[in-house]
Amino acid sequence: MVENVVIIGGGPAGLSAAIYLARANLNPLVFAGSPPGGQLTLTSEVENYPGFESILGSELIEKMRNQAKKFGTRIVDENVLKVDFAKKPFEITGSVMKFFDGKQQTAKNLSPSPYLSKSIIIATGAKALWLNIPSETRLRGKGVSACATCDGFFFREKIVAVIGGGDTALEEALTLTKFAKKVYIIHRRDFFRASKIMQERVKENKKIEIIWDSAVEEVLGEKRVEGIRISQVSQSQSSRLNRSESVKSANTGLTGSTDSTDLTFKVDGVFIAIGHKPDTDLFKDKIELDEKGYILVKSVESVKSVKSVTDSTDSTDFNRFNYQRMTSVLGVFVAGDCADPYYRQAVTAAGTGVEAALEVERWLEIE
Ligand code: NAP
Repeated sequence: MVENVVIIGGGPAGLSAAIYLARANLNPLVFAGSPPGGQLTLTSEVENYPGFESILGSELIEKMRNQAKKFGTRIVDENVLKVDFAKKPFEITGSVMKFFDGKQQTAKNLSPSPYLSKSIIIATGAKALWLNIPSETRLRGKGVSACATCDGFFFREKIVAVIGGGDTALEEALTLTKFAKKVYIIHRRDFFRASKIMQERVKENKKIEIIWDSAVEEVLGEKRVEGIRISQVSQSQSSRLNRSESVKSANTGLTGSTDSTDLTFKVDGVFIAIGHKPDTDLFKDKIELDEKGYILVKSVESVKSVKSVTDSTDSTDFNRFNYQRMTSVLGVFVAGDCADPYYRQAVTAAGTGVEAALEVERWLEIE
């Protein structure tokens, strides 16, 4: 059997695409991954998804899955292990552990692998990078977060710390000043790699205090974040100066001993902002990625290439439709965070999922 469309990814981008394609009678097949659901399932409360004043991330994903299934989407909670975009139809090889809706099936009921498809939507998302210390993992969703836009609201008049020195960290810190009464930026160097304009904004903001040359050793607290323990990572003269200035002015709950380089802060929230990694290793050397691994969209080029590879004499149709979600491979589309280093919101992912679905619908008409 050749599928019309296979969607790789079961987060808001993939499931929004599935809802549209199922309602267009295109019978989509979603590889939702194992475990399914993406980053939303790692957050607790979501309060910025239109239509839901407050909902658990995992519940929101469940509702999207049910909505997609209601219109006929088939969902496989499997990881995709291999794709072949050089073949037509495209080939997708899954891990074949489970079949529809996570129910374990006997081998005879399993679909033959690889799956074949006329088109593909990649919606594999991205992962926030974490410090990977046990206390951070334990308190994730209990005061440890990787998204100020999502969780900043919960820290009104509280004290928070942001970890990192790139644009994301500084943007997170500025966002948090709208809610928190005090924001520490803890960075492992004595300079930021963020853009100059962001640095100026941060330095001008009276709520922000920068703690240079410091690494997070432990997030403190049993049930919720109560503090943070940091250590000095550089002994340079300038670093020590920067640090002592920070320490002098950081008089809110800061405790440190003179015989130790470790310091303890009282904070209510810790925002890790040390970068994101798009989940695109599977597509390396198969489609064009940027230097950080985000999938590149190729709108104009696709239109031109379509004209040159099809037999159609009516090229005006192609000119009228300018694909925005096509990758460097014709018929392979992309949606969500795996192509978005900037916005990374559930709503924006869902929006590009819908765009990709509408383009697949159009693409299948000429396939
Ligand atoms: P980034 O530029 O890679 O910065 C990551 C920061 O985290 C660096 O300061 C790095 O320290 C620090 N870091 C990494 N691993 C760490 C660890 N294990 N412990 C402590 N600190 C660690 O990532 P980003 O800030 O997410 O930005 C990614 C890209 O998106 C950049 O090109 C950025 O310009 C862009 N961006 C733009 C905007 C905007 O224009 N508004 C907003 C956000 C992001 P070192 O400095 O020591 O390496």
